[in-house]
Amino acid sequence: MVGIVSTIGQRCKRCYSCVRECPATAIRVENGQAVVIAERCISCGHCVKVCSQKAKKILSDKERVLFDLIPSHKTIAIFAPSIAASFPEAYSKIPAALKKIGFEKVCETAFGADLVAKLYKEEFEKVNGKTIISSPCPAVNNYIEKYFVDLVPHLAKIVSPMIAMGRYLKETEGNHCKVVFVGPCVAKKSEYIDPEVENEIDAVLTFTELKEIFDELKIDLTLMEDQDFDPPYANFGKSFPLTGGLLKTAEISSDVLARNVIVVDGKEKVVSIIKDISENKIKSKFVDILFCEGCINGPAIDTDLNYYSRREKVVEFIDKNLQNIDKRVWKCDIYNSRHIDFTRNFHPKSQRRPMPSEEKIKEILSRTNKIEKKDELNCGACGYPSCREYAIAIAKDLAEEDMCLPYLIEKLENAYTDLKQTQEQLQSAEKLASIGQLAAGVAHEINNPLGTIILYAAMLKREVESKKCNVTNPDDYTMIIDEANRCKNIVSNLLNFARHGKLKITSVNLPKIIDEIVRSIKINPSFKDVILNINNNCTDEIISADPDQIKQVFLNVITNGCEALEESEIKNLTINLRNDDTIIITEIIDTGCGIPEENMKKLFTPFFTTKKMGKGTGLGLAITYGIIKMHRGDIAVKSNQSHGSIFTIKLPLEKSEKRIMMN
Ligand code: SF4
Ligand code: SF4
Repeated sequence: MVGIVSTIGQRCKRCYSCVRECPATAIRVENGQAVVIAERCISCGHCVKVCSQKAKKILSDKERVLFDLIPSHKTIAIFAPSIAASFPEAYSKIPAALKKIGFEKVCETAFGADLVAKLYKEEFEKVNGKTIISSPCPAVNNYIEKYFVDLVPHLAKIVSPMIAMGRYLKETEGNHCKVVFVGPCVAKKSEYIDPEVENEIDAVLTFTELKEIFDELKIDLTLMEDQDFDPPYANFGKSFPLTGGLLKTAEISSDVLARNVIVVDGKEKVVSIIKDISENKIKSKFVDILFCEGCINGPAIDTDLNYYSRREKVVEFIDKNLQNIDKRVWKCDIYNSRHIDFTRNFHPKSQRRPMPSEEKIKEILSRTNKIEKKDELNCGACGYPSCREYAIAIAKDLAEEDMCLPYLIEKLENAYTDLKQTQEQLQSAEKLASIGQLAAGVAHEINNPLGTIILYAAMLKREVESKKCNVTNPDDYTMIIDEANRCKNIVSNLLNFARHGKLKITSVNLPKIIDEIVRSIKINPSFKDVILNINNNCTDEIISADPDQIKQVFLNVITNGCEALEESEIKNLTINLRNDDTIIITEIIDTGCGIPEENMKKLFTPFFTTKKMGKGTGLGLAITYGIIKMHRGDIAVKSNQSHGSIFTIKLPLEKSEKRIMMN
């Protein structure tokens, strides 16, 4: 469905002014852009007025008028009386300018208002026990048909002055003629295509479009001669664009003390009175409603004058014209059109969406960080009057979560923190990778001479032992072999550290592996005083992993924990195991000496060690880190120098790994 109003995507800067302004919640934010939902839009044009970026576009009839209607048909323009506000110095030049473009006649729509005034008077006099709502404003009619269907029977079944004038001209000038309405209203574009009244009017131009046409065709109004509009001439119908103008034309008193009549204009007041009528709070017989503050404030009035100057200009125009009107001719024109039917019907076209449940509203509120009432800031930045209204709009698929500014800021802050952490991890991984490459190179070079040293030392030792030679220091050979083996061990660790991506994956029961490690440590005399405990709360224990490498990880971390207890009075090491839906979490908690703050960042860096000379290579935790990362896991440390350290290792459960692969 082509909407009367749409958004020029690239111009929208997400200020949500149009969302805030739209009385019909017809603007949905999609991927951050305010899109008008054609079916919900009532074409009031308020969003066009408030968009400072000129991102709202009105469906144009310019081409149709210039290239289709005028060249091949007798085309008549009918003008809204607010022309005097849009062209304050040049309205008398308009008839000549339009005839230059090719219009055959230029008339006033106000005669149409005179034509329907009598019907309003009759309706007012006969109505009893029901409130009648006036129907010249298509935005009001659309609003009622779409959102207050129970009030559709309350709309006066009378056509607007525009449609009345169209019917009159088709009757008097012949059905073949084409009628183009020109005015300040966007909603008129939706009215003339309404199947109830279609074919009466053939196009609608706004004053803005007319000015564009003058510009494009280089028509200089100052060079045009003054001309009167073509007959039929209007009487009080000219006052239609002013608030209460309809009542004046229909001779219904709208005096402040008048009973049974209410005159309402302006979006907020209109929305509120329609709600009141629907709730049976209004007892008046007649309510005259205009969505804008009179048509002189219509969205396409296109003038620099303020409201009061516009009013003054229109009143001046009406006065001048009323003095010149020949009342006898006017009465005759009205009489001669008595056979034309100026009635119409309205139909419910409900666009209301079901109200979400309280549970759903609460769930959406909490999704956008509004857990308690005090979290609802009601700041209006999203375009909705309150957080609750905003949550309802999300539930009705009219809004997006990212429209809430405080929520978005928090989300961005979290994303920034995550990004920073990832960057740090990447830097550290890069560092580890380059150290790994260096280590691999060095290890490779040392490995061969080391092998030769061990081989020849062993041969010498065997020879010395077999010949039973008298050697002063026979243990020296053993020493050479032992130390060379220690170097080999270091080299093998270095190669391990550099051995990225070489995993032999199989299903591994993690608690079982930890249990085996703990049992082996318990019989190690160095740790005889350590009290080791395992709390296994896992409901799923299987991970996809390389069993040898995973064993190395936990052996490293648990051994480190036990070593940290060496000088502690309380020597407890506790291992807690639990899992959620996707990961298995292991906490290794020691009551040892803790890690000084300044060492925390270097903990996983190769060759960093706080152990005594000859006691560690400084590769254990670096290797651990590498293996965990290769298993798509995570390792984190918290430490407190008076309470000890907690190493937390997270590894994905086998079932979640399989889920990822399937997706
Ligand atoms: S008023 Fe609406 S269309 Fe215009 S910039 Fe703001 S959000 Fe975008
Ligand atoms: S806090 Fe968010 S949802 Fe609430 S009014 Fe402000 S922007 Fe809208």
